[in-house]
Amino acid sequence: MSNDIKTQVVVLGSGPGGYSAAFRAADLGLDVVLIERYSTLGGVCLNVGCIPSKALLHVAKVIDDAKEMASHGVTFGEPQIDIEKIRGWKEKVVGQLTGGLAGMAKQRKVKIVNGFGKFTGPNSIAVEGEDGTTTVNFDNAIIAAGSSVVNLPFIPTEDPRVLDSTGALELEDVPGEMLVLGGGIIGLEMGTVYSTLGANVSVVEFADQLVPAADADIMKIYTKYVKNRFNLMLSTKVVAVDAKDDGLYVTFEGKNAPEGQVRYDKILVAVGRKPNGHMIDADKAGVNVDERGFINVTNELRTNVNHIFAIGDVVGQPMLAHKAVHEGHVAAEVISGKKHVFEPRCIPSIAYTDPEIAWVGVTEREAKEQGLNFEVANFPWAASGRAIASARTEGKTKLIFDKESGRVLGGAIIGINAGEMLGEIGLAVEMGADAEDVGLTIHAHPTLNESIGMAAEIFEGSITDLP
Ligand code: FAD
Repeated sequence: MSNDIKTQVVVLGSGPGGYSAAFRAADLGLDVVLIERYSTLGGVCLNVGCIPSKALLHVAKVIDDAKEMASHGVTFGEPQIDIEKIRGWKEKVVGQLTGGLAGMAKQRKVKIVNGFGKFTGPNSIAVEGEDGTTTVNFDNAIIAAGSSVVNLPFIPTEDPRVLDSTGALELEDVPGEMLVLGGGIIGLEMGTVYSTLGANVSVVEFADQLVPAADADIMKIYTKYVKNRFNLMLSTKVVAVDAKDDGLYVTFEGKNAPEGQVRYDKILVAVGRKPNGHMIDADKAGVNVDERGFINVTNELRTNVNHIFAIGDVVGQPMLAHKAVHEGHVAAEVISGKKHVFEPRCIPSIAYTDPEIAWVGVTEREAKEQGLNFEVANFPWAASGRAIASARTEGKTKLIFDKESGRVLGGAIIGINAGEMLGEIGLAVEMGADAEDVGLTIHAHPTLNESIGMAAEIFEGSITDLP
């Protein structure tokens, strides 16, 4: 059976980019169809990404905080882990948010078409669903098809003991020995959850630092803090995995490679994500997709075909939900006739690990590579009353200033709540604020946020004596 629908705007994919674009377009009075292959809206982020990982990280944080209390005179005893209940909690969080999206779509009269969509021409997409094929004829399209996990050819991914991030989030059990392959944000977040729940977690990373995009001094603090949590193997790679009945036997190569094979109960492969540009027959609409699967767009988010837009992970790095959301808004507004471009000065990056790692704007490494005339101001949390009172002095706040104008170019924070604090630095970068603006802003005492004002004062020379 074939159904035909005609719409002003079709959005292919309902992740953060897709639902944001669909809702904004509907709010602007356009007639919108949203295509999604899965039964729930929300894409990777809500179903198998940002949200479930944060629900599990919340559980891990409370356990870690409770354990830490022992050194301040309060002992709760050994935590009793009920894995099914933890999984239930995570699913409840996801359900609340994906259900909320369905309600918001209904409220806005966004029509949801369930099934796998592929272009059949420059103004049509065929959606194969449970009830047959629906052809959506459109004036404008927004491709928000997202990304998928990358696998390595020598890893037996069909073995149920080899997990990707989606499998790890299912939290089937807590393995005794777990190897996390890839020391990026996703690997470290999931490694944090499993190590707190009781697994012995090893992390292998090819680069010479964890989270290679972040500055080395920030990652040095993290690496030191987690030395008892993870067995770290930097500058090392996995070259073979031998799946045997009693475990996965891994061979490593590199600077910190252990001799011979090492046995693990489970391996989490977290080596990156690839764009889904090749799954949607974009060529039938005349849309160019590069060999990796990315779709190039203009600052209005237009592809090479004027009435077809693309947003989110499928258009490039950084593959982050908040980038997708903003791109979605721009695409919808441009389609509605508004003048808008996607040209942010900065996009924040956060690892919700313990401690959290957060940065925005230029990093120190980028400032050097770009030959900028910059200066760095560091405020160590050992001098923060709030950090001392929270027994978490390992952190630091770092701001990068233009040496001449004093403008804030970027910044990084490592420490508890770093992710929540980062917004202020992002705002400073976006607004072109300088050190005086930030330093003269009265930050409440005692907060960790004070460290941002203090870093600005260090740049200005008003603070000189730090531990
Ligand atoms: P996606 O969320 O990938 O959504 C694309 C949607 O399109 C999917 O629902 C897919 O089913 C659908 N689709 C694709 N092709 C078709 C088709 N042909 N027909 C029908 N439907 C189709 N980002 C953050 O900012 N913060 C975080 O804390 C964070 N944590 C993460 C944790 C994990 C474990 C992972 C894996 C990712 C995380 N991310 C995080 C990244 C974030 O999830 C993505 O950047 C974001 O989901 C991208 O949004 P999107 O709209 O581009 O695509």
